[in-house]
Formats: sequence, C-alpha cells, structure tokens
Amino acid sequence: MPISPDFERRLHAVLPAAAEHFGTPFHIYDERGIHENCRRFDRAFAGTPYREYFAVKGLPNPVPLRLLGEHGFGFDCSSLPELTLAAQAGAVGHDICFTSNNTSAAELIAALRLGALINVDDESVFTKLTALGPLPDTLCFRVHPGTSGAKVGESYLGRAESAKFGIPADRLPQLCAEALRLGVSNVGLHMMLGSGFMTQEPFLLSLGLLLDQAERLHRELGADVGFVNLGGGIGIPYRPDEEPFDLPALGREITHALVAWEQRTGLPRPTVLFECGRYITGPHGALVTRVVNRMSKTREYVGVDAGMSSLMRPAMYGAYHHITVPGGEGRPVEVVDVVGSLCENNDKFAEQRSLPAVVEGDFVVIHDTGAHALSMGFNYNGRLRPQELLLRHDGGIERIRRAEEQEDYFATLTFQPSRLVPGRTANAVSTVR
Ligand SMILES: *Cc1c(COP(=O)(O)O)cnc(C)c1O
Repeated sequence: MPISPDFERRLHAVLPAAAEHFGTPFHIYDERGIHENCRRFDRAFAGTPYREYFAVKGLPNPVPLRLLGEHGFGFDCSSLPELTLAAQAGAVGHDICFTSNNTSAAELIAALRLGALINVDDESVFTKLTALGPLPDTLCFRVHPGTSGAKVGESYLGRAESAKFGIPADRLPQLCAEALRLGVSNVGLHMMLGSGFMTQEPFLLSLGLLLDQAERLHRELGADVGFVNLGGGIGIPYRPDEEPFDLPALGREITHALVAWEQRTGLPRPTVLFECGRYITGPHGALVTRVVNRMSKTREYVGVDAGMSSLMRPAMYGAYHHITVPGGEGRPVEVVDVVGSLCENNDKFAEQRSLPAVVEGDFVVIHDTGAHALSMGFNYNGRLRPQELLLRHDGGIERIRRAEEQEDYFATLTFQPSRLVPGRTANAVSTVR
C-alpha cells in the first residue's frame, strides 16, 4: 500500500489549485498522516518504556520536525547541520541523539554543547571525547553486530568484515569500564542492522544481541544498561501488493523479550529507543510532477518536470516508487518509462510501468517521498531541487521550503579570494603584484 487512500483523496482534491498557486513540481507532506502515524507508534510500544528519535536525514525540514517534536519524539542526527536543524525544531539536551560515524572533534563539541545523547560509534570517538573534557553522565555505545547480524543486515551493512559501523563486542567491556571510571553513570547500547526491513526478525535479533551485552556488562562491571537503541530501518510497503510492517506485533514481541529478560536476570529492563526515519514520514509524502514531454522510440517515454534532484532512490537503488495519474481512471493503459531531464539514462522514476495514457500537462504523482527523497537529491547537471509543501490538518497548504533557483546553484562561486604560492608565506603572496 503506497500513500493512504485518505491522503490520496485529500491530495487530489487540492491538486489543481495547489499547482496553480505554487507551480510544479513539489513534494507535499501530510500533517494528518504523520500525526496519526506518531500515535500508532506510541500505541505499539505502550507496553514498555520507549522513545522514538526521528532520523533527521529522512526529512530535514524544521516544520515537520517541529510536528514530531511536539508529539514527543526526539531527533537522531549525524552531522553539524542536522544538529542545528534539531535545535531549530526546539530540541534540547537528550531530545537529540548524535549517531555519527567517522566523527570529527568539531562535531562532538557541537553535540556536547547541545547536551545531546552521544552514540559512540568507535573507540576513536571515545578517545576524542575524553580529550574534550569531562564525559557526559550518559553515553551510548554502538555495537558491531559481528557475523550474527550480517545475514539480515547485508543490504545495509554489507558483509560483517566490511561493516564500518560500531564497536566489536569483544572490546565493549573494556571501553565501558573506562567510561564508568571517567564518571559515566548511565550506559546505553545501540545497534542498527539495516534499512527497509519488513519483518520483525532483525529488530528482535539486535535486541537479543544487545541484551546479551547488557547482561555481560552487568556481570563483569556491575554496569546497568539504561537503554537499548534498536536504530531505524522499519520498512514501508512501496509496492501496492506489499503488506505493511506489523508494528503492534513488534511492540508485543519486544515487550515479551524484555519482560522475560528482566525475570531471568533480575535486572531492570532498559528503555527502548528507535531512530526510524522512513517509517515515520515516508508514506506521508508525494512528489507531484507534470508531464512536459512525450517521446516514442523503442519504448514510450513520459517526461516529467522533476528528476533525480527530487528523488534519487529509483536510480540509486533500483527502488520502486508507486506512480499514479490523477484523473487517469478509465483511460487506456500504456507501458512507459517515466523520466527526468538529467544526462544520465538512469534518470527514471519508473521503467516499463503500466500507467493510464497521459498527455502534456497531466499530473503524475510519485508516491512515498516523505523520507529519503528531497534530502538525497543532488544538483548534478545544474538540476535544481523542488519546493516542499505541507498539507495541514485544516486542508490549508503551506510552502515549507522554496524551490532552488540558479542563484543557489551559483552561491558557492561567491567567496573570499584566496591564493597560495607554495614555498612563500601567505603574507608574502598578498604583497606580490
Ligand atoms: C539512516 C539511519 C536511520 C534511519 O533509517 P530509516 O531506514 O529511515 O529508518 C536511523 N539511524 C541511523 C544511524 C541511520 O544511519
């Protein structure tokens, strides 16, 4: 099931007016759908203490971020701009989780300044942190899944030996002991096996691996693990025939596992954290384009006014995004490639897709662009990124990001002149005429 029939109905009702007022193309997000989804998440995990930290990279716009923050979600960040966005959306202290990798001291300083919950991806990060001053009271360690996690996580992590994320489990106790010695009092553990999972298995597997580590840390160091972060990666059904992820079942299974662990070990059960992006906003966005061109050669081509700068997933991952033609019911069906204008033959939203026959000017709606869509877009070929709109609860539509313009593309060509002649000092260069 791609975007919900409810969102689709409300979107179609406003499409002509929105296109007239704002122009196309645009990503449009559904406030009502996002809000209902947040509540669904809360209900699924009502059985155990939990918090969702929305992965900012999925939808890095302060307006929807604020909606999620108002709901009580935190933000998962992994770069300086993402930290700034989370702060702009009103997040403070532990509302922010900093899950970086290959991390610089500057990023750690910014995260510490915000009081963010820091997720240590590697021993090198820990060393950098200790050099920056006293450690925070709370610290989380990202655990490498080793070979047991490799099978389910291969799509994202690659093979176990090439997975770059996390601390190998055999080095965890020593690192944790050092953290405790340096004043850390609340320890968390994190593991993320991959992205786009449609079954519970990977999450129960990482929970099990983290609980084993928690038990071991208690036994060896007397440490109580206060929270386990299962990362993001809950998938959404991009295809019409796919079943949605059974979130209530995952909530029940996780609660069962925690209760059983609590009873067996006598230790207090850790709070469960998530960092889902796609699951939260993915299905509540659509890219609205217009047909600008029809071409007929070995295949039939439908050219639209957006391309990879708006959505890279089909070209980058061969991902399926459902496509519909509002008002296309009852028209003859054609098999077409839906393409953008980039000088790359993979700049296609769909290949050999059956769609109602379209003509120039028709709307073509690309579904499930609420996460990892605009945020992944790029400017190759001088292709500019489109605007973002928000369909509010009351049916109003707001622009929440303008489209890029040529000036944005050229912005980095305005700069302080700087020149170096190697072998001379910078001062000497400035006096040379
Ligand atoms: C990308 C990412 C997420 C979000 O992934 P989704 O598939 O959108 O849920 C969460 N945590 C980390 C560390 C990530 O890299």
